[in-house]
Amino acid sequence: MRHVNIPVFIPHLGCPNQCVFCNQRTISGVKSFDSLSVVKTIDDALSTVDKEDFTEIAFFGGSFTGIDRALMTELLEIAYSYVKAGRVKSVRCSTRPDYIDEEIISILKKYSVNVVELGLQSTSDKVLSLTKRNHTFDDEERACRLITEAGIELVGQMMIGLPGSTPLDEIKTAEFIINSGASGARVYPTVVFRDTELCSMAVSGDYIPLSLEDAVRRSAEVVKLFRLSGLRVIRIGLQASEGLSSSDTYFAGPNHPSLGELVENKIYLDKITAELEKHTLSSDTKVYITVPSGDLSKALGQKKHNKNYLMERFNLKDMLFSTDESLGFGEMTVKVRKDI
Ligand code: SF4
Repeated sequence: MRHVNIPVFIPHLGCPNQCVFCNQRTISGVKSFDSLSVVKTIDDALSTVDKEDFTEIAFFGGSFTGIDRALMTELLEIAYSYVKAGRVKSVRCSTRPDYIDEEIISILKKYSVNVVELGLQSTSDKVLSLTKRNHTFDDEERACRLITEAGIELVGQMMIGLPGSTPLDEIKTAEFIINSGASGARVYPTVVFRDTELCSMAVSGDYIPLSLEDAVRRSAEVVKLFRLSGLRVIRIGLQASEGLSSSDTYFAGPNHPSLGELVENKIYLDKITAELEKHTLSSDTKVYITVPSGDLSKALGQKKHNKNYLMERFNLKDMLFSTDESLGFGEMTVKVRKDI
């Protein structure tokens, strides 16, 4: 069954904050909001999905539970009418930890909101303060508890390379998301958009944007942790449409159309490296790597970067990559043979 999200962007309406990295109007491409347009958005999207698809209406782009209560209820009523009519299966929304309380939870339950995506950008109070998130780690803990205790699915959205953030902070944030009972995660390396405070910080030198290489390396570390714990990684990096392709909106930071793919390549590179380090290798060694079908390009890396790097690093005679459809997600076999 295909999982289809019908995204309804609520740009900044719910948010009196201005996190230093955020320009929701830029990211979503929506400058104003008309609740009547929601019906058209949903109907248009539904005309393109199959009846068998698992379809969800997703209120994204701002802090949904922080918008004007009457407007939020109106939007939920609209979404819920599609659930009741059997035209969509569920509703999800994204919001901030400090906009979750018992009352909000009971409203979400009433309108069949089954998934809450929570901005858990960092668990470090220092990073939260430097990014002007305007809430603390305690708010994150409390919100996660309220959501999971209510039986609502939790997805954590975290960021890589925020001001003041270290790789260890990011590992701790990932561990918190795992331990909070989340079922999934999104990982967003920090991009600097124009018209944000982060942009001014980058111009003044108070913030140094992540290089693409560092963003890939640090993202790969948290994705590995999520996968080890069985969490689904829903997304790595912003969508290309999210203001990244125009210099009018994008200023600096890791910006690559296949950033998620680069992270997957890096995960394979680290995995194969760890396996090869267990062997005594020399220039007469051939290595045979087998991965699940569909993973060949991830294992080889872009432009065969992984293969070329590994052959040089271990001084190998050859490396042969193949696929085996009997291998499950994340499985891999490595065989080492010396030519006589
Ligand atoms: S809370 Fe969300 S919408 Fe509000 S400024 Fe921060 S990132 Fe943007």
